[in-house]
Amino acid sequence: MSFSNTPRAGTLKSLADVKLTPFWLDDPNKPEPASALTEKITADLVVVGAGYTGLWTALQAKQADPNRDVVLLEAGETAIGASGRNGGFVASSLTHGFNNGMNRWPKEMPKLVELGHKNLDGIEATIKQFNIDCDFLRSGEINVATEEYQIADLREEADESAAVGENIQFLDADQMRARVNSPMYLAGVLDPSVAMVNPARLAWGLRRACLQLGVRLFENTQVTALEERRDAKRVILKTQYGEVESKRVALATNAFPPLLKRLSLYMVPVYDYVLMTEPLSKSQRESIGWQGREGLSDNGNQFHYYRTSEDGRILWGGYDAIYYRNNGVAPHLENHPASFSRLAEHFFQTFPQLTGLRFTHAWGGVIDTSSRYTAFWGKACGGKVAYAMGYTGLGVGASRFGAQVILDLLDDKKTERTELQMVKSKPFPFPPEPFRSPIINFTRWSLDQADQNEGKRNLWLKTLDALGLGFDS
Ligand SMILES: Cc1cc2nc3c(=O)[nH]c(=O)nc-3n(C[C@H](O)[C@H](O)[C@H](O)COP(=O)(O)OP(=O)(O)OC[C@H]3O[C@@H](n4cnc5c(N)ncnc54)[C@H](O)[C@@H]3O)c2cc1C
Repeated sequence: MSFSNTPRAGTLKSLADVKLTPFWLDDPNKPEPASALTEKITADLVVVGAGYTGLWTALQAKQADPNRDVVLLEAGETAIGASGRNGGFVASSLTHGFNNGMNRWPKEMPKLVELGHKNLDGIEATIKQFNIDCDFLRSGEINVATEEYQIADLREEADESAAVGENIQFLDADQMRARVNSPMYLAGVLDPSVAMVNPARLAWGLRRACLQLGVRLFENTQVTALEERRDAKRVILKTQYGEVESKRVALATNAFPPLLKRLSLYMVPVYDYVLMTEPLSKSQRESIGWQGREGLSDNGNQFHYYRTSEDGRILWGGYDAIYYRNNGVAPHLENHPASFSRLAEHFFQTFPQLTGLRFTHAWGGVIDTSSRYTAFWGKACGGKVAYAMGYTGLGVGASRFGAQVILDLLDDKKTERTELQMVKSKPFPFPPEPFRSPIINFTRWSLDQADQNEGKRNLWLKTLDALGLGFDS
């Protein structure tokens, strides 16, 4: 059954009192921001951006060498970007899911799977080591089929995964509905390794760990320019009120306008929208049978992701993935009523038992989409600068790996990570404006048509598939 996009009156009522702020950031545990940089300083390593990529880079740099003088610069506050507003699905996948990795790097998949699991174990170990209270739970993720044609794909994924070391289990309709009961569910695949986390608390915990190890953090400090010093020995980062001269620079700015302009070719900022319900009563929870804490997602091109919170709410996000002309990124784009009402309507189609439930929070966040859906890396300024971006909506786990690769590149180290094709190669670039906007919008329209038409892909999507290109969130 495909989703109907027209919101009913009762659906709109559920949005009457939403707060337009990310639920995770609306938390008394939010730390007081560090002061802005107001002078000229020097450092061994400067990290730009205090989301997961930047935090993991700073933390792992200090763990590897406590004497390294590490400075972390953040334009707003820690976790104000995607890291504080995501779904909190922490997957082992470094490749935006099993199928995407298998399609692109089949020979490397066993290694990518192994490194991905090691990475997730590393996240869990760090959470324990620094006592980070972030509701990290290895509760698994189930990807559900809501239409007949999706069932075969799920079965195939479960069958193929074992050969490369994954453990993805097929659930038929009865098994699926015994875990979570929606009239839309026809089958599912369970990946038990995926964890759920409170995303902002994870970021704030990493921030605390960085400070504990001596990282110098400056918040409300936007880097406005990056220049190489005349003798090419150092890089200078200019901020509104200060400046840092550093031996090495890590760029971890995700979907925000890149300091190296050429990176815009490889990444488009795409807005993803999310709702959070009020806590469910015991009987509401029983009506949907969802007693565990596993995360769920559905299997269309445009997909929803949803999970429960520690206090018994349901987070419901995804489906729309909106690109705003000229790489638009701005606070006002976080409020998109058409996406919120569509999301709410789809929520009640999935769980009609919950009619009457209210949403308390609604927000948007920006994702760094690459045409291959995975992160990519590179160097600049003769190897003194390195970056990672392009996670495309699956970066909560992968960002720690992304940070390790940044450090490998800055230290000019050959490791099992830097030898991967995924790391050595770049995604196919997106066209610049004025072509970017119409091409992305036509692709989105085509994906929507496929979702409304039993997955049948038009000539444009088939051409992109043949070239290994795409648009996702
Ligand atoms: C709504 C939403 C839901 C998502 N759900 C999931 C999920 O469930 N699971 C998953 O794996 N992934 C998910 N993602 C993706 C995931 O959140 C990101 O991949 C991950 O957080 C990226 O971390 P980051 O540090 O690279 O980027 P960010 O967290 O965006 O951090 C970048 C930081 O750089 C700062 N910055 C930018 N420019 C400058 C500058 N010039 N100077 C100083 N600072 C600067 C920004 O202020 C920001 O804090 C989701 C993303 C969104 C938006």
